Amino acid sequence: MAQARILIVEDEESLRIGLNETFAGEGFAVQICPRGDAAVAAVGAFKPDLMLLDLMLPGMHGMEVCKHLRAQGATLPIIMLTALADEKQIVEGLKAGADDYITKPFRLAELHARVAAQLRRVQAAFGAPLELPGCKLDLTRGEVLRDGKAVALTQLEVELVKYLLKAKPNAVSRDELLTKVWGYKEAVATRTVDMAIAKLRAKIEQDKEKPRVIATVRDAGYRWEL
Ligand code: CA
Repeated sequence: MAQARILIVEDEESLRIGLNETFAGEGFAVQICPRGDAAVAAVGAFKPDLMLLDLMLPGMHGMEVCKHLRAQGATLPIIMLTALADEKQIVEGLKAGADDYITKPFRLAELHARVAAQLRRVQAAFGAPLELPGCKLDLTRGEVLRDGKAVALTQLEVELVKYLLKAKPNAVSRDELLTKVWGYKEAVATRTVDMAIAKLRAKIEQDKEKPRVIATVRDAGYRWEL
């Protein structure tokens, strides 16, 4: 990952500043957010690769932030910063969609190790370019390489590909894509998905009229085939 982006959601100022300085000092792109109710929007705007999430926050509890993000289909790793080694809370946090947790007070070295482990996991899943017939798909850079030329993918196309890859070998319905990838509350305009898939196919398929990568599954939606 070129420069990993970290969002730090923490209301305790000294800790927030300390974490910001440390991670920024190590070359991460860092954004800080002091409120729970601003965290979901901050993820949408900053598009972090990873989030450190405190639990006791003004505006919205960290657990709720986590649930909201997962309900929207956000796939980024979330590490919860918990105040107590409360087993029940930890189990609840992992159920809410957190990938890991660290108990305060923590050693920075340990937090770094956990951040690095989560980013490695993401990179293993999405980092190496995917070899497709006739092209390479680089989700980290958000581009398709064909005949030595790079074609940029939109952020939405990257999210769409990731969602289909995660669902593999199952097909994903248009309604699910609209709510999880587009973030629509209700699935209304299903042509939106078909149009986006057509544009994506034009970029990644050898022959967009005979798609081999993304299949249309009758009455089910779309499926990643490779
Ligand atoms: Ca707090």
